[in-house]
Amino acid sequence: MSRIGRRHRDHDAVFLAGFALLVCLLAAAVIAAGGESPAQVAVSLAPGGGGEVVADGRVLRHEGGRAQRSHARLRFTLAPAQPETPGRVLWLPREPVGALWIEAGDWRSPSRGFFGSDGQGVLASGYRLRLPAHWQGPLELDLHVEGGAAAALRPLVLDDDEAARLEQRAVAIAATVYAALLTLSLLALALYGAARDRTFLLLFACATLALLMLAAINGHLYAMPVLGLFAAWQAQGMWALVFLFLACWLKLVEHYVGADGLGAAVTRALRVAVGMLLLLAAICLLDLRLLDPVMQPLAALGWVASGLGGMALLMDAGRRRVAMAWPLLLVVLATLLLVLLRQLAGQGVLPGLAAMRYGFQAGVVATLIVFAVGLVSRISEYRDQRDHDRLARADTERRMQREAARTDLVNALQAKLRTLAPGDIEWTGFRMLFDQLLPLLPVESMVAVAHGFHGRDLLVVHPHGEKDRVGAELQPRLLPLKRQAANGIALQQPLTTPDSLAIEAVIPLQIRTPSWGAVLLRRPGGDGFTSDEMALATEFVRLTQVQIDQAIAAVNLRRSAELDALTGSFNRRSIDQWLTRAFTEAERDDQPVSVLFVDLDRFKSVNDRFGHACGDHCLRAAATALRGALGERDIFGRYGGEEFIAVLPGRGGAAARQVGEDLRAAVERLVIEWEGQALRLTVSVGVATRRDGEHSPAATIDRADKALYAAKRGGRNCVHVAPAVFT
Ligand code: GH3
Ligand code: MG
Ligand code: MG
Repeated sequence: MSRIGRRHRDHDAVFLAGFALLVCLLAAAVIAAGGESPAQVAVSLAPGGGGEVVADGRVLRHEGGRAQRSHARLRFTLAPAQPETPGRVLWLPREPVGALWIEAGDWRSPSRGFFGSDGQGVLASGYRLRLPAHWQGPLELDLHVEGGAAAALRPLVLDDDEAARLEQRAVAIAATVYAALLTLSLLALALYGAARDRTFLLLFACATLALLMLAAINGHLYAMPVLGLFAAWQAQGMWALVFLFLACWLKLVEHYVGADGLGAAVTRALRVAVGMLLLLAAICLLDLRLLDPVMQPLAALGWVASGLGGMALLMDAGRRRVAMAWPLLLVVLATLLLVLLRQLAGQGVLPGLAAMRYGFQAGVVATLIVFAVGLVSRISEYRDQRDHDRLARADTERRMQREAARTDLVNALQAKLRTLAPGDIEWTGFRMLFDQLLPLLPVESMVAVAHGFHGRDLLVVHPHGEKDRVGAELQPRLLPLKRQAANGIALQQPLTTPDSLAIEAVIPLQIRTPSWGAVLLRRPGGDGFTSDEMALATEFVRLTQVQIDQAIAAVNLRRSAELDALTGSFNRRSIDQWLTRAFTEAERDDQPVSVLFVDLDRFKSVNDRFGHACGDHCLRAAATALRGALGERDIFGRYGGEEFIAVLPGRGGAAARQVGEDLRAAVERLVIEWEGQALRLTVSVGVATRRDGEHSPAATIDRADKALYAAKRGGRNCVHVAPAVFT
């Protein structure tokens, strides 16, 4: 919001600059209009030869005919010429007339015309007719005008120097106006290339047409090479340019205020207006001279109608908060007023000051400048919109990436953790967390530290090689960390080491006191973690912890179903499963597999003499000793009562007998402490190896059982191997 506000202030500044330029142009026009010159001679005009009285001499007498002809008598008095006095000229503003000249008796000045270069300079602002140097005293001469707007001609008699000054001022103003329009049109073209907004093309067309139109109105166009050919159309060509400009201007306003915001009726009316203006321009180019008297008022009407229409559109746009609509409205209003003044001056109703001649031209320039400013501000709106879209897209992408990482993490944790031994679940879980988190959250190190997490102490460090260093570094911090972890709130804090500064995020694990744990993320430098990153880390840590807890619970549950509660070795149910699997694998791989039954000798008497608790204690001790005598791959469990079973995949015959012997010896060596007494136990072992054709363990078990029975009968504390063929 504040960004947009600032942007608007930027536009206002640009607008003010444009407006200041307008004021300067107007000021220049007014200054150039200047006061009366001391070197100026008063000229009074009298009715022409035909006797028609012309009010204040402004309108010359019309003499009829197809080409309008008019003439006026000029009266003035010239001081006697001194040698050093500059020459004197009769100066008339450069209004569109076919030809004009002055006559006095036999003397006749050269003829000047609007629609041709008459050697008075490209940017001439008036007709200069040199008066003979010897003329002095009261003078009377006839001004003849052929065709065109004679009414606005106001003769001045000036020194050469004064006339040159007058011209220079006018040249400065006209040059400024043309330069501004040329710059604008080039700028519009460049902006069209950059923004691809067709409104800039309209602005370009408008500025170019304005340049041509004003050059034509000032008569400068006809003095230029090539463009001078336009003179063929004379005044009609000038009106054509005016109509074309107005049509283009209306289109520009329509595009600027946004065609979508306009009603169907308004759009239709605009189309009609533009069509009519274009039609008028086309008619003008037919060069029907008899339309000359009609086109002048039609052009005036065109100015007023287009101006008011444009203002109505801008007012509506201003209400719709279109950028720069209100400033534009003001400038258009000012320009329209200046156009009216110019028209009135052209009719001879108002004095023909330079401000009248150039004021509306400055207004046209200012209008187009403000349009340009408004359009440029629109570019920044596009850019804002584009930036906004890009940010939103990046945000969506980031969120999707996170979502994917989250899903990946949960899936990976679920798939992996439950296959692990209880002691491996915790650190594996945190390691997997680090792997997923690192691409999303660039940090220097990640540490999971916990005390009593599922009954264990934990330290998982990324990068792995830093574990010892990090462990030593954490040692003195354990107490404050424990306090922070107990808070349960994720936080970040600066970590200053003698040679570096880092920020550490502490994300507590959800563990009940006195246990505690936290994940520590460290980022070098003073830039901390954004709240977004903290939320991400917290979410992922929680997620991982939940998965670890669940995996441990699941594994515990599974183990409780698999294991014998008293001795912690496999129970009968799982031994049966292991047996089936071992036999299947043995048959598939053509490998031996042996089954050993181990039964405590005369155990009943232990219970009888020392009690059941002692019996349990002895069972546990015997199980531990037996397990210790077996290899990694061997499977060991409690088959029932005081009877154990060992399954030896890959071993048969002598090797199995040796294992049986090892088991027997292990128990024989065992000394069990019970209430200050040393108890000793022995076992009998029955061994059987799978025979070819035995697909299930039942037959082998049966033979092992029988071998055990044989061992018991054989005196106990011995190993008996079932014969290869047992009947
Ligand atoms: P033998 O040498 O013939 O095997 O003699 P034995 O006394 O061991 O024979 P028997 O199978 O008759 O006795 C098994 C005894 O083991 C019965 C029971 O008191 C004891 N026993 C079985 N299960 C448990 C147990 O879970 N805890 C305790 N304390 N004793 C058990
Ligand atoms: Mg027994
Ligand atoms: Mg028994």
